[in-house]
Amino acid sequence: MRTRIAPTPSGYLHVGNAFNFLVTAELVRTFGGTLVLRVDDLDQERVRPEYIEDVFRSLAWLGIQPDEGPSGPEQLRRDRSQLLRMERYAHLVDELRSNGHLYPCSCSRAERERQRTGAHRCRTQETGRVAAGTPWRLRVPEPCPVEWSEWGGATSQVELSTALPDPVIVQRGSGRPAYQVASLVDDLDMGIDHVVRGADLIPSTACQCYLARILERPAFQAIRFLHHPLATDATGRKLSKSAGDTSLRSMREAGSSPEPLKDEAKAYVAAFLTRVTG
Ligand SMILES: [Zn+2]
Repeated sequence: MRTRIAPTPSGYLHVGNAFNFLVTAELVRTFGGTLVLRVDDLDQERVRPEYIEDVFRSLAWLGIQPDEGPSGPEQLRRDRSQLLRMERYAHLVDELRSNGHLYPCSCSRAERERQRTGAHRCRTQETGRVAAGTPWRLRVPEPCPVEWSEWGGATSQVELSTALPDPVIVQRGSGRPAYQVASLVDDLDMGIDHVVRGADLIPSTACQCYLARILERPAFQAIRFLHHPLATDATGRKLSKSAGDTSLRSMREAGSSPEPLKDEAKAYVAAFLTRVTG
């Protein structure tokens, strides 16, 4: 089993992130396998050095030692940053574009909401000359049922055209690939076979599985997903009573122990194991 924790350093990590990391690490400990740390640092406008530093401090505080991945901010910058992998992402975007799956669209959110996705005029317009900095969206057919295997055997199905209609694939202005592209490419290149993420990312799972299907990436389609409920805020609130917020940094500075978070993750994993093994 190869799985990953993939924090985005665009803010200080909070109890929700901690729960996800702890559940993932506990599953690797239980089943054996490799835990990869990947820092999703693509969004350079929002990434800050103190947030990157916070990732490594938080992992140490939680007692999580990944088997692979950057050991600190310096190694991240030098040879693990997503910025070093732009060509890999661009390759996938080109493939999507040349197969006719993308269309340029500069519409505002309000404009897009006025038009039904399927009838959106940009979708059907001839792609002539496209100004630099124009975002590109994925043309999601209607209907578009997407299936994947959940860890434990069940199959999930989500209607992508309602869960995430025509998501952005190439960002406005910067021309950077969207999270959906980078996450898919990285999981494939890193040989990930199990993904543990919060239930709030189910639309992203559907999007990435759809991309994998149309681009014929069977390795991604073979991934088993575990979508866990978001951390109960009760534990976070209890922990952060003196710190005032649910960031892990505040808790560390207030001298809180991470044990209640660890207990919550362990209890979740124990219940999950009972469910899947009967
Ligand atoms: Zn448009």
